[in-house]
Amino acid sequence: MSEKTTQDKSELVKLQSAGELRKTMDGYFSRLREAAETGSRKIAWCTSVGPAELLYSMGFEVFFPENHGAMLGAGKNADKYIPTAVAHGYSPDICSYLTSDIGAFLQNETPLQKSGFKSVPTPDILVYNTNQCREVEDWFSFYGRHFKVPVVGIHTPLCITDLGPEIIKTVAEQYHRIIPELEKVAGVKFDIDRFRETVGLSHDGCVLWKEVLQKAKNIPAPINFFDSAIHMGPIVVMRGTQYANDYYKILLAELQERIEQHISAVPSERFRLYWEGMPLWYRLSNLAKLFAKLDTCIVASTYCNSWVFDDLDPADPFESSALAYSKLFIVRSDTVKENVLDQLMQEFSVNGIIYHESKTCARNSNNRFGLQNRLLKRNGIPYLEINGDLNDPRCYSEEQSIIAIETFIDQLSGQIK
Ligand code: SF4
Repeated sequence: MSEKTTQDKSELVKLQSAGELRKTMDGYFSRLREAAETGSRKIAWCTSVGPAELLYSMGFEVFFPENHGAMLGAGKNADKYIPTAVAHGYSPDICSYLTSDIGAFLQNETPLQKSGFKSVPTPDILVYNTNQCREVEDWFSFYGRHFKVPVVGIHTPLCITDLGPEIIKTVAEQYHRIIPELEKVAGVKFDIDRFRETVGLSHDGCVLWKEVLQKAKNIPAPINFFDSAIHMGPIVVMRGTQYANDYYKILLAELQERIEQHISAVPSERFRLYWEGMPLWYRLSNLAKLFAKLDTCIVASTYCNSWVFDDLDPADPFESSALAYSKLFIVRSDTVKENVLDQLMQEFSVNGIIYHESKTCARNSNNRFGLQNRLLKRNGIPYLEINGDLNDPRCYSEEQSIIAIETFIDQLSGQIK
């Protein structure tokens, strides 16, 4: 499947599965569009680490505004839309997914128009989990007011150190509590067997996605962070469906073949870095090329690892959902995060860490309370901090960052034989 050709160093080694990825994502958007145009199925909007399994099990088509926000960022249009949200009272310092998404909506524009949508699919209900941040509740409430549809949510405590039974119990109870509203909107009764089946599919998809990420433990790595940030689409928007699982089997086979044929994600891998924080969606490809040119592979990241919910268990769908969605990195305390990061550094043979301090996402910028220094003391792995933002390019100085990255790699080359 993969082909290695003579190439210059900044040329990326493309994954052949990208074609299947496009088909899988196109299928997802056509199902959504069909539901939006014909009303054949109800549409729920869900946060990226919200209760997608519950929604799919009840027959909803599920739309993820954060995925839409990332599309706006990758399309390099966020700074066109953010000022409109700011003019409506949303601070430029809060989540730029939120501000670019609401701004685009108020301007009646969406990248989905290129795929035949008239606008974003109108929600019948909006469902969030605050496990990632408080922004999601405010974001969904904006649309709830606009469309006059119900907004229901699960409130998970933040900064969890001890994930004890009391937290699992309260989160699981909230799953139960939102079901009557979902039934009313869906027009169907909740079916525990369908839920078990969906949780089982989601578990299997997450395990496949984890295996994809773990292939990068191989030296050289067959996949890097920039590939994973694109290929994570199905696990974000289709976990709990067979579509996601089918796609990851194809991707895994290609990665295994790459390993056997010694094909690496960057043409010549010398340095192995960890990416901490959000991607810079508007510079993803530039950064991928820059690191490839510097013989550097970003082998692992907090962001892509965030969709590994392998604690899901069809035998105990409510409690295991509560466990899986309260265990994820973003909802944990710095003490837990430090341990998780330290383990990942070892597992992936990392030489250096890049912390992306994302101006508008406090919860995904983990270098604000000294964690980077504590981790350095603990494992001696050098780090670099770069300032930027997930979607708002005005917060990022490309020139400064390139100089900082090149200097960092230069310093690493003095340390690595
Ligand atoms: S976690 Fe960060 S990027 Fe994601 S919705 Fe919350 S503030 Fe936005």
